[in-house]
Amino acid sequence: MSSNGNGHPLRSERARGPLVVLAPLSIEARAIRSALPGALVIQTGMGRRRSTRAALGGLPRPTDEVLANAGAVAVAGFCGALDPTLRPGDVVVATELHGPEGITPCHSAGILAATLADLGVEARLGPMVSTDHVVAGPERRRLAEQTGAIAVDMESAWLAAAAGDRPLAVLRVVVDTPEGELKGNPIATARGGLRAYRSLVKAAPALSPWAEAAGPRTVLLAAPRSFCAGVERAIEIVERALDRYGPPVYVRKQIVHNVHVVRDLERRGAVFVESAEDVPVGATVVFSAHGVSPEVRAQAQAQKLHVIDATCPLVTKVHTEARRFASGDYTIFLIGHEGHEEVEGTTGEAASSIRLIEKVDDVDKLEVEDPTQVAFLSQTTLAVDEVNEVVDALRDRFPSLTGPGSADICYATQNRQDAVKVLARECDLLLVIGSENSSNSKRLVEVAEREGCRAALIDDETGIHPRWLVGTETVGVTAGASAPEVLVDRVLEALAGLGPVTVQERHVTTESVRFTLPVELRSQKG
Ligand code: SF4
Repeated sequence: MSSNGNGHPLRSERARGPLVVLAPLSIEARAIRSALPGALVIQTGMGRRRSTRAALGGLPRPTDEVLANAGAVAVAGFCGALDPTLRPGDVVVATELHGPEGITPCHSAGILAATLADLGVEARLGPMVSTDHVVAGPERRRLAEQTGAIAVDMESAWLAAAAGDRPLAVLRVVVDTPEGELKGNPIATARGGLRAYRSLVKAAPALSPWAEAAGPRTVLLAAPRSFCAGVERAIEIVERALDRYGPPVYVRKQIVHNVHVVRDLERRGAVFVESAEDVPVGATVVFSAHGVSPEVRAQAQAQKLHVIDATCPLVTKVHTEARRFASGDYTIFLIGHEGHEEVEGTTGEAASSIRLIEKVDDVDKLEVEDPTQVAFLSQTTLAVDEVNEVVDALRDRFPSLTGPGSADICYATQNRQDAVKVLARECDLLLVIGSENSSNSKRLVEVAEREGCRAALIDDETGIHPRWLVGTETVGVTAGASAPEVLVDRVLEALAGLGPVTVQERHVTTESVRFTLPVELRSQKG
């Protein structure tokens, strides 16, 4: 129910108060008013003294009442870059504010960044610091080293107190940089100022949907969620290999399908490659949790690679079944997604015997030599219900169909889907934390949607679009088997940054599965 351009204040619907934007300088206030005609913008003045006064009730009437009734508070304006990679006009969203009185977190920064991305604005997220003087020269580097801040201003840390326990966002635009300081440089001032003004006008509208998403809500957490035993084992294998053999340790394909896990291991010295051929002769290579075909193993042997196999034992079980059926002259229907690494690995075990099917419709098209000698297998991370439908269709067409001793869908896939079904009945929206290439995470979204619940796949809190949250009182949160639990914490914090959050866990079952490490890595780290 926000309204732009009609004179009404932008309202944070569920927080029942308007968005109030605090802008220290008149030029900053002007930029925001032109971009957000409905916003209540208060020009608070430059520097620590004026900011403190504005935040602590020192504004003239009726401006002080406007601020007192705010549903959400944003600080917006210009800043100086501390990070040398920032350029004039770059948009910075503060994740926390460092000031002389301490650190103020800005929990919903990632959600504001998602809205900026919708507007085509790529924001840099990071800590900001406020000082009571203009920072120049070597002090920029010192400040960055001391605080970890990427940008500096002279007001935000003090203005933040105006928000109290209401949602707070800090959106600043870089006006000068370590290499192009404004002080005594009129040309740089004019260029940097113009770029910053234009960027601020472009970015400011993002504050409106951010504020509309503010309000109290309930979060239902799925349990179990996040890492399964196979993923924990695979990550630990790479960590221990790095400890034992030192970097670089090569990993064929993503060790598990999660961008955060991959980046973290890359920082520690893992080198991810697409093919064993990309690994130098004699080097150490880890095979990912999804498994590899015999052809890949042969390739690694030809290159005399030191192989450490992180294939999940439950994937290995499917490989064994494929070999067993193939040796009994069965035609094997492998239910799975074309191109998925696990499917490629399993297919490689018995390529001439395996027919890949993805959906029920594929069953009619199947042609086999001996319809009495047929078996099915499946990828471990599919939707349980969909696999059952395909198997039923196979049984209808091939009454002699046989299958694995126990289902190939792994315990972790099954449990996470069961938990999502419970959540889906109670939620207005389900957020599934996981990467785009994570099969089990994508299936969780589909399972929720089949239950009639809105659902979205997000890599982390920066994927949450505020428009999803407007009018959404109960949000479910889960994480795919390859997504770390720390991302769940970050999503909860981001939601709590938009208003009070009550968290309840829906516990479906307890998992106790653990897999042993390869022998060479079993003893203590190092
Ligand atoms: S999702 Fe299942 S098959 Fe895949 S790694 Fe985890 S436990 Fe293993």
